[in-house]
Amino acid sequence: MKNQIDRNLSPHDLPLKARQIKAGGMTAKCLDINIKTFGCQMNVRDSEVIGGLLARAGYEITDDEEKADIVIFNTCSVRQMAENRVWSAVGNAVNRKGVPPIIGISGCMANNYREAIFEKAPAVDFVVGTADIGKLPEIIKEIQKHKGSLNEKKIYETDAEFREDEIYHTGFRLDKEHAFVVISEGCENFCSYCVVPYVRGKLRSRNAEDILKEIKADVDAGISKITLLGQNVNAYGSPVTGHRSPVNFIELLKKVNVIPGLKEFTFVTSHPKDTAIELFKAIAELDKLRKYMHLPVQSGSDRILKMMNRRYTRENYLNLARSYREIVKGGELTTDIIVGFPGETEKDFQDTFDLVKEVEFNAGFIFKYSPRPHTEALKWPDDVPREEKERRHALILELQRKISKKLKA
Ligand code: SF4
Repeated sequence: MKNQIDRNLSPHDLPLKARQIKAGGMTAKCLDINIKTFGCQMNVRDSEVIGGLLARAGYEITDDEEKADIVIFNTCSVRQMAENRVWSAVGNAVNRKGVPPIIGISGCMANNYREAIFEKAPAVDFVVGTADIGKLPEIIKEIQKHKGSLNEKKIYETDAEFREDEIYHTGFRLDKEHAFVVISEGCENFCSYCVVPYVRGKLRSRNAEDILKEIKADVDAGISKITLLGQNVNAYGSPVTGHRSPVNFIELLKKVNVIPGLKEFTFVTSHPKDTAIELFKAIAELDKLRKYMHLPVQSGSDRILKMMNRRYTRENYLNLARSYREIVKGGELTTDIIVGFPGETEKDFQDTFDLVKEVEFNAGFIFKYSPRPHTEALKWPDDVPREEKERRHALILELQRKISKKLKA
């Protein structure tokens, strides 16, 4: 436990509330832990992993934040609004009636702000980075040991580069039918607006055998649907830094497809630059693989795509979309779009609008650009006025609504 900050308490500080239970003939402290999840599906899975590790260590996981002895905020840094929601939720936990809980921050904000979190929110007791969650039982034990004493501690652990595969095998699942399975962590694409490479680290592909073992255990436990997760899922197994698996993405899909008892699986999120016709063929051919693809385009303007460092052109994307529709007959195609990127002109926006019209996505997630720490785009003025971002957002949203409705009819 290397990062500890001692805190001198006043004698008025309240001791930790704990219940006594009998565990295996020994008396053990059992604390209720509430995990609050913000952000993407990766965080939903990470919260489950945290829950599994802590349940295995003897804690009880509860939905009741008001009664929890420990509240962990598993956070998201992808947009400022997401961070604001976390700060406000932390404030509510600090000010709740009765004994205040032990408070921990995990997830992207932990890596984004590290020990600076203790300055912004002095009531936070521990900060755990995205690759450090395996240390949580040890960290909480240490916090508990000193809580309420004169040498109360604050702990932050945010430096790990890899997660141990072992953390994915606690068998703790919140949904009885569907499971998220992480196949890769991190991203090194450095899209100019995105904080992920700075808070989740470089791309690391999990060992294929270990992924299959996790899915088989889920299926044995009665789960029939799986979503394979990665920030850049279709770069799985590519020969990049941190590469640990000799299996490529399509080979992995084929191996998952033949797991007995599994009924359906899918994957998110793919990057267009790593998407090839072979992947569409696999989606069409593998009988258990859902005929669905989420392929974020982000912008229809070549100028903006270049500034975003997306490494494909509008034409590349349109060709991919056409091929997908041709090969995956009746398949769904969804996307993400950012409006109001720095320097986005009316013409750039119109290019995006026209692309949405042309591709006819089944669904689209439309976001207003929000400057993020560390990123390249932060250096450029956020010069599209808020009202204009809102207008562009509303226009594409309305267009997409009409298209989605038409395709569903
Ligand atoms: S591909 Fe780009 S947008 Fe997606 S996580 Fe990586 S850097 Fe962020």
